[in-house]
Amino acid sequence: MAADAEGPHESGPARPRDVTPWLPELVPPAQRIPGDATDFELLDAVEALHRTRARLDLHRADVLAALWSRRRVHSADDEAALREVAMISGVSLTAAERMLAASLTLKQGLADTREQLLDGTLPWSHVEVIAAGAKLVEPEDVDRFEQEAIRLVTGAGIGQAKDRIRQLIDRLHPEQMTERHEAERAERDVTIEPGANGMAWLHLYLPAPEAVAIHDRLTRAAIALHGEEGETRCIGQLRADAAIDLLLAVLPEATDWEVLDRSRRTWNSLDIVPQVHVTVPVLTLLDRSDEPGHLRGYGPIDPETARRLTAQAPSLYRVLVDPGTNTVVQVGREHYEVPPPLRRFLQLRDERCRFPGCSRNANLCDIDHTIPWAWNGETNADNLAHLCRVHHRLKERGWSVVLEDDGVMHWTSPFGRRRTTLPAVALAA
Ligand SMILES: [Zn+2]
Repeated sequence: MAADAEGPHESGPARPRDVTPWLPELVPPAQRIPGDATDFELLDAVEALHRTRARLDLHRADVLAALWSRRRVHSADDEAALREVAMISGVSLTAAERMLAASLTLKQGLADTREQLLDGTLPWSHVEVIAAGAKLVEPEDVDRFEQEAIRLVTGAGIGQAKDRIRQLIDRLHPEQMTERHEAERAERDVTIEPGANGMAWLHLYLPAPEAVAIHDRLTRAAIALHGEEGETRCIGQLRADAAIDLLLAVLPEATDWEVLDRSRRTWNSLDIVPQVHVTVPVLTLLDRSDEPGHLRGYGPIDPETARRLTAQAPSLYRVLVDPGTNTVVQVGREHYEVPPPLRRFLQLRDERCRFPGCSRNANLCDIDHTIPWAWNGETNADNLAHLCRVHHRLKERGWSVVLEDDGVMHWTSPFGRRRTTLPAVALAA
């Protein structure tokens, strides 16, 4: 800090040169939006501005890369520059570091990601996720990673994009998954994080199958209670209350219970058995392959854990992916109702509402006939998908959707914009 206070470097206190000549030319802000502009025109303007901002993001990345590439060793000078960038951009030091790292990665490679940023397909946030992921894969896998990463994050929300990249890295290097998981298990813990207004977060850092099982049990308890007469709590509140009851159920003193002002309000949580769905490739199960398993609600899990889960736990619903067997019932026009095996298949395939960017759990969604039953749509996997109530209704409001055999969905908005959503896991129907 003291060194910084001494002021400019040896080059002297001269005013820096004007940088505007090598910055992109910007048109002045819109003076006046014509009163007779149509919705189509205004939406086109929003899209054009979105592209302009993407181009500026790329330009900023190039400038940051130039700034950063001069700094080879981690020195006080580096940190000063980093802090300056954080301050200018109004972001945390960690966020500035992420931005710088992505800028450098983009300068050195990832030409296609750069292209996608430039034409406005990928926002900067998603580019950072891809750039961070690219650093975790072996150099010879970077090209394959990039192609797949772009496909996976296009049209996904930022949370979903992060999940998918994490899963992609695990898929590319499954051989390291078991090892990494073993090491990380030792870090499990329960921590508390204070929140505002008398609230706090309780974090449980757990192996994924246990975490998913706990969340599933709480969700089931919540759904069961939700249907009861006079119950006004929403699903989230019920899930939280069920967790409190389960974790505090065995208080030694009745008085403690009273201090906490609680009675057992989610009495049936204890009776609810969690369901953990894991998809395991047959060859992995037979120990002849190291392809990862897929834990519903989480993503890929290491082959060792997948084998263990499949071998035990009576509550476990097992699905073995075997290209040779056709386990999914195709009932065509015979029934409108979706039979349970097909329902389970769809839950595994979709996991969430299939509208772009929606993350509503499939448990809380409707199963929609993509081509309506009334229009001769069939009750088959290639004509059914999970949609939450809100997005289910959009189909009556000008949105159209096409579902492909492999579960990929193509949405078109009332104004003609297209988005694609991918299934959570590719399952052979
Ligand atoms: Zn939805």
